[in-house]
Amino acid sequence: MTAQPKRNSTTEWQAQDRHHIHPFSDNAQLHEIGSRVITKAEGTHLWDSEGNRLLDAFAGLWCVNVGYGRKSIADVAYKQLQELPYYNTFFKTTHPPVAELSKLLVDMTPKQFNNVFYGQSGSDANDTIVRMVRSYWNLKKQPKKKTIISRTNGYHGSTMVAASLGGMNYMHELADLPLPGFVHIRQPYWYGEGGSSTPEEFGKLCAKALEDKILELGAENVAAFIGEPIQGAGGVIIPPMTYWPAIQEICKKYDLLLIADEVICGFGRTGHWFGSEYFGIESDFMTMAKGITSGYMPLSAIMVSDRVADVLNSGIDFSHGYTYSGHPVSCAVAIENIRILREEKLVERVHDETGPYLTKRLWELLDHPLVGEVRNVGLMGGIELVKDKNNRKTFQPVGDTGTICRDHCFRLGLVMRATRDTMLISPSLTWTKGDIDDFMKLTQEALDLTA
Ligand code: PLP
Repeated sequence: MTAQPKRNSTTEWQAQDRHHIHPFSDNAQLHEIGSRVITKAEGTHLWDSEGNRLLDAFAGLWCVNVGYGRKSIADVAYKQLQELPYYNTFFKTTHPPVAELSKLLVDMTPKQFNNVFYGQSGSDANDTIVRMVRSYWNLKKQPKKKTIISRTNGYHGSTMVAASLGGMNYMHELADLPLPGFVHIRQPYWYGEGGSSTPEEFGKLCAKALEDKILELGAENVAAFIGEPIQGAGGVIIPPMTYWPAIQEICKKYDLLLIADEVICGFGRTGHWFGSEYFGIESDFMTMAKGITSGYMPLSAIMVSDRVADVLNSGIDFSHGYTYSGHPVSCAVAIENIRILREEKLVERVHDETGPYLTKRLWELLDHPLVGEVRNVGLMGGIELVKDKNNRKTFQPVGDTGTICRDHCFRLGLVMRATRDTMLISPSLTWTKGDIDDFMKLTQEALDLTA
């Protein structure tokens, strides 16, 4: 009998982990209490080092769209690692996975996209886009067009530029952000900020904020607008249907490039391949990451419209790229991931079956005294907890109740996330109605414990 390799125990891992600076964490507190050690995943479940099984309602971090434990993805990665584990595409070379993926992405995205650039994360992709936007306007001999407008409470990543695009104050504070040239307008958050207006009126009002900002800055100084079709990390803020058509109109009117950040919405989460499809957005750039590989390997891709690509590809060197741009293993994994999404008709399933079922079940939570609003498109949803649902009064301090509820979920064996006091749901697209029923039972329990 071969000896099993020795595995550490939970406490040993926790001790070793004291050297690890965790992202988005109070590390001093974490070192005190010790992290939960996740050791295994299969399908829609995770296991921790103590043998507890958890239902993952968050698909890792909005990303494991095809679920965990896909052997065919592991096989494709293994084969690629043996054949060509690495090569770059800088010096007049390419390789089959990056070439095949590029054609595949062009075929599956809206018609204005015939060009794609690769990175390894959503953050670096948005950074790259900012560079492309600047290069575009400089090449067009409109060098004053520099400012990029985004939204309060939008999320576009963590690099200095991506965090400047983002409208999260707590990300700006310690690092003196945003950088110059990045400004923010209000978010289309009807439940929290809509007052007595109808969603339709409010959508138009929030789009008007873009026009007002452009007029304030001068259209000759404004380069682009960026937004997530549905704000994810900001609390699953679903804009009224009047919002995006009005934004699109304003971008056209004042000659702004439009960037749709599809890092969460892309690859089926909303029951459409892209959030842009759901809202009818016709953008100049789409940022894609997460669901493109279902998180099995890091990869981001930027779809670049013909309007922009024609200018960027006009006989100059675009001096930009990463060692891992178009990494062969990541690209091979993306191709297999997209094959699975298509073959198992997972996007259609979210659209026709599990998305509507989640809506129906979430609505039942409105009977709960803590629940002010529920909202979802496909398998991207939020449950907003409030102090007084009759007048939409929020908790003080904001965020505590969401954190308490999230911790109860975790103890009960359910992984959810909270943004302020909104509980977020974003499971793998393989979830069945049975998984949604399990999720509902645990959520109801957690809400009762929180109340
Ligand atoms: N854009 C959006 C909409 C995101 O939600 C995220 C991450 O959650 C990012 C960009 C940044 O992606 P990454 O964490 O891969 O850098």
